[in-house]
Amino acid sequence: MMGRCLAVAVLSSLSVTMAAETVFPVTGGDEAIASRKAAVAALMALDEAALVALVPTQSGIYFTDCPNCDGGAQDHANWEWSLERPTAVRCRDCGEVYPGNARYPETGETRVEAPQGEHRYPYYERADGYRIYLRAHADYLAREYLTRHCQTLAELYRLTGEEAYARRAALLLGRFAEVFPGYACKFDYPFRQKLFTPWHTPTIEGIGPYRVSKWTWWAYMDVSTGLLAAYESLRPWEGLDRLGDGGFRSRIEKDLLTGMVDYVLVIPETYTNMSPVAWNAVIQAGRVLGRPEWIGEALQRADVFMRQQFLYDGHWQETAPSYCQQTVGLMRSFLAVLKGYEPAPAARQDQEAVLARVRSALAALEAAHGATRLPNGGLITVNDTWATAGRAPSRVRSQLLPGMGLATLVAGEDDDQAMVWLNYTAGRGHKHNDALSMALVAFQRELWRDLGYTHTAWRTWSVVTASHNTVVVDGVDSAIDGEHRQNRLRAYVTAHPRLGLVEAEHDGAYAGRCSRYRRTLLMVGAAATEAYVVDVFQVHGGAQHDWLLHGSAEMDSTLAVHGCDLEAFDGTLMNPGTAFALPKGESFGVGPAGGYGFVRAQRRGVAGGVIRADLRLSGEAAGVGASTWLDCPPGTTLVTGEAPRLRQAERHDNLLPTFQAPMLCARRQGEDLRSVFVAVHAPWREAAPVRDIAVERLGDAGTLVEIRLNDGGVDWVVIGDDGPVAASRQTALGRLEVEAHWAVVRSRGGAVTDMLVVDGTTASVGETRLAAPASAEGDLAAWGELSEDGIRGWLDLPGNPTVAPGSALLVTLADGTVMAFTPVRAAAGDAGLTRVMVRERPAFERAGEGLRLTASPQREVAGSALRWRVLGVGTRVQP
Ligand SMILES: [Zn+2]
Ligand SMILES: [Zn+2]
Repeated sequence: MMGRCLAVAVLSSLSVTMAAETVFPVTGGDEAIASRKAAVAALMALDEAALVALVPTQSGIYFTDCPNCDGGAQDHANWEWSLERPTAVRCRDCGEVYPGNARYPETGETRVEAPQGEHRYPYYERADGYRIYLRAHADYLAREYLTRHCQTLAELYRLTGEEAYARRAALLLGRFAEVFPGYACKFDYPFRQKLFTPWHTPTIEGIGPYRVSKWTWWAYMDVSTGLLAAYESLRPWEGLDRLGDGGFRSRIEKDLLTGMVDYVLVIPETYTNMSPVAWNAVIQAGRVLGRPEWIGEALQRADVFMRQQFLYDGHWQETAPSYCQQTVGLMRSFLAVLKGYEPAPAARQDQEAVLARVRSALAALEAAHGATRLPNGGLITVNDTWATAGRAPSRVRSQLLPGMGLATLVAGEDDDQAMVWLNYTAGRGHKHNDALSMALVAFQRELWRDLGYTHTAWRTWSVVTASHNTVVVDGVDSAIDGEHRQNRLRAYVTAHPRLGLVEAEHDGAYAGRCSRYRRTLLMVGAAATEAYVVDVFQVHGGAQHDWLLHGSAEMDSTLAVHGCDLEAFDGTLMNPGTAFALPKGESFGVGPAGGYGFVRAQRRGVAGGVIRADLRLSGEAAGVGASTWLDCPPGTTLVTGEAPRLRQAERHDNLLPTFQAPMLCARRQGEDLRSVFVAVHAPWREAAPVRDIAVERLGDAGTLVEIRLNDGGVDWVVIGDDGPVAASRQTALGRLEVEAHWAVVRSRGGAVTDMLVVDGTTASVGETRLAAPASAEGDLAAWGELSEDGIRGWLDLPGNPTVAPGSALLVTLADGTVMAFTPVRAAAGDAGLTRVMVRERPAFERAGEGLRLTASPQREVAGSALRWRVLGVGTRVQP
């Protein structure tokens, strides 16, 4: 192998990436060299003693506000630091300089034991007792500057072979190695009084792991990759061993870099979405310093992390795609920093097995994250997810994420797709009170929306139930299913290319008030231009049911209601006596009954029969909209109004009242109320595909919806409330007869076209008849996990049931929890069993008399029963 110095000399003027064994590649070229030289010119001009003196001898503090102004955010002003005045900071907003400021003098100091004596942290104490460590912030910024430039100096040596750069990088690294061990550890958190502890005791009572840091403000970042990279570039320099007392190399490796790794590795592991930040740096350190045991440790932790902290469908435990995205990026980096790493022979087998598991879990994570994409490339805005368009529109398909609790149904394959989603997400972190909410997008536009994430003062409006397209019972927020046990998928069928079905229920949304809270969505159509969604929401119990729709939060829009006269209404949708005050900040709430307080400009009327609500987007999306038909039992109160759409006021709380979106509420009241809200949502551009609808209740057992289309077609949709239902009626095509739980019959030009029958026997019109296989169920015989691409497990079902992609396999545990699986393929196996390969992890194992769930969230289930069910599906696909 060619020596590295020689390679450097030969290749220095070319644009190259260093060889594969390099942990921190350096891209060279004349331009890169010139810009690096310019960046370090000031440091090169200093005499060496002055250079070394720049290295702070004490820890720095990051969260530092300007005592004089309100600039900046999150307890951190917009500071300026310069080499000319390295122990001071200047506020960019008001110009004040600290420390040594006569108006804001240092009023006291915190003393911390140090290896030789003590370290002193002077502060300015505000009237409220909060201490601001301005001098320590100058140290923080100096340290950052020197770390960055130390790396640049070392890279210049690597690229040019010039020892002058190596020498200065080595002096800085050597000085850091002298002072770092004695740096105090501290709790450095926004708006909280800073706390310090001596170098030898890296914990502070009451402060959680990783919050006590030594190098940065968060210990996940406490292995400096900048200094590691600097050392990797500097290491081949022979002069390093001749420098000073000859101990530079040893001190840099042991006291500085190993010291950082040791500091981080002894902190109890938390397995959060920040953990891979620490592991990645530990792996890089292990590769630079030749410490395979660090790499082994990071691999072990990643293995546990991927098994325990993700849902069984592969998604990050928090059911917010923005947070999943962060994990995807970090785990990709994890594999990237291992690229080219060769484990020692003794460890090879184990480490390769771990890597295979991590890779498989990452593939599942990427697939799960990909399933939360919108046709415009952005992320589905459920829970705390930012509404940002992606880089490019993407074609999406119907997807089920059963661990997360998100089902999408997509119509169309061209650039103009329509998508509806049913949000039955569970979990605790970054979660909204959004039980069984839906949203509709089409033509790359948001129509019926979910707000997603915001850091505005009115954030609570994005969280409350009243802000979602769902049903609010008795005027209060629905509950959250923290354990992933009360949200239950009942059907997910995408076996037909143009007809999709999802149904879910949530037992805990209004526990104690409601005995049923269930929603069914059926997507019908081959393209966005002709697609519509049939939406049935059943609620049993409570005294007031509000069915809600919210218009786009993307842009201005208008809502017009037909079929009901509305008059200005200056009352409130809030329960009588509920107080409301606009929140003053992001962490302020409005209470469980306060959501409607945000609604203004209300109009009210009383409806009976089918009404239509037309949403029209404005501006660049003029011509695009959605129409919703809603069947209102006599006496339904309709209220329209407008409510904040938040996104456009991000970072500008004063603009919050400016940006509003229209909304609609259909309210029913009565004792022990039972409601079946039946709606049809049709997106449109220029012209709506649906002309009108008619709704017929089938006794007290189901609903028949007739949808009359503008192209002359007529469709019929049957949805049983709780199981198969019989429907019969005369049509222009002959007698319609249906015996099914869910069925769709489409016709055009007097002929039957597409049909779907799920969990039933037949659907027929005139002579055209479609039969469906029976639904099947039984006890699960066996199961196991796999680490294959796209297949993470198998389930053995007794007998020979029809199991095919396109219909979710439902497994019910003894406590009623439903875990759904996506069949990839099925084949007859041994002993009369059918083996179904599935996309999700069968993440449960027997534990005594019960089961233990092994994916997130882990818990024990009393009783080991495992009942599976597959819905029988019949399809007729008209070419
Ligand atoms: Zn200021
Ligand atoms: Zn939401």
